[in-house]
Amino acid sequence: PQIKPQPVIKQLDDAAINRIAAGEVLERPASAVKELAENAVDAGATRIEVVIADGGKTLIRVTDDGCGIAAHDLPLALSRHATSKIDGSDLLNIHSFGFRGEALPSLGAVGRLTITSRVPPETAARIAVAGGVTDAVAPAALNNGTVVELRDMFYATPARLKFLRTDRAEAQAVGDVIKRLAMAEPFITFILRDASNGDQRTTFRADAETGDLFDALHGRLRSVLGREFAENAIAIDAEREGFHLTGYAALPTYSRGAAIAQFLFVNGRPVRDKMLLGALRAAYMDVLSRDRHPVAALFVDCDPKLVDVNVHPAKSEVRFRDPGAVRGLIVSGLRHALADAGHRASTTVAG
Ligand code: ADP
Ligand code: MG
Repeated sequence: PQIKPQPVIKQLDDAAINRIAAGEVLERPASAVKELAENAVDAGATRIEVVIADGGKTLIRVTDDGCGIAAHDLPLALSRHATSKIDGSDLLNIHSFGFRGEALPSLGAVGRLTITSRVPPETAARIAVAGGVTDAVAPAALNNGTVVELRDMFYATPARLKFLRTDRAEAQAVGDVIKRLAMAEPFITFILRDASNGDQRTTFRADAETGDLFDALHGRLRSVLGREFAENAIAIDAEREGFHLTGYAALPTYSRGAAIAQFLFVNGRPVRDKMLLGALRAAYMDVLSRDRHPVAALFVDCDPKLVDVNVHPAKSEVRFRDPGAVRGLIVSGLRHALADAGHRASTTVAG
């Protein structure tokens, strides 16, 4: 019989480790945009501008007016598991989008990444990394905030490059990420510019007048989801066992042929959680045919200790301590609201 050669165990180098990790966090340009825009939100930005070219494949540039990164911290921002957002002692009490310290090193491993930043009154600095090879920090010119530029995503991992879809489909996925984040952050102005598509701009402007979160959320949902949604949606407000459900759900008559307009947020974090999507579907079961899909923007809020967001590398799934309570809240909250709306409609017609 053939004898297998004695295997040798070797420690992988950082570049290889980062490329492997990148495979989990970064699926496509939209995932890079998500990570970078969330970093800008975490940095306290009030204005976030995203520019893409070729669906984000050749260029993604995110500019923010947040707190910035100090020059001496730039190399650390690029190293794995380095984060300013948690101290690691309490993974069940997370208030920021980021906490894993994986996005920037992953991006630097799969593309050409440049970070330029300034923390006033210090001078601005920049650092570049391409395919996992980092340059020294250099002086730069920037007034405030941070500019992160990613060129040629996946050039260092050609296998992943092959799985990308058309520029149009990738640009659409980027637009979807910005929409979701904009819905969660009504006090931030978001601008998305597609340099390959006639420089097309999408702008969600923060209304400086409104200080009220509810008003701001309502206005933002209206501008992201459109007037037709606003006119066909009913306000949801329900509570159960420490979970609070708010948002808007469209009437069954305003449904879609695909599950593309279901926006779910847990403690302000956009998620695509299967349990939550299932609950939304179940709430409409009696009023929608099988081939129709409800349209809704729902916010579940609870004590961060009641939900684990560290389930999925891209944090798009969460795990509730009591999933039954959350499911029940969504199903009964929506059913009651839909029944009330139906009742009001029929009495209006009758009266
Ligand atoms: P995480 O967001 O999980 O902390 P990242 O790799 O995305 O990990 O970022 C690493 C660190 O770099 C962050 O913790 C933060 O301190 C800093 N950083 C990244 N992006 C920005 C930004 N736009 N503005 C200010 N600081 C940033
Ligand atoms: Mg991050």
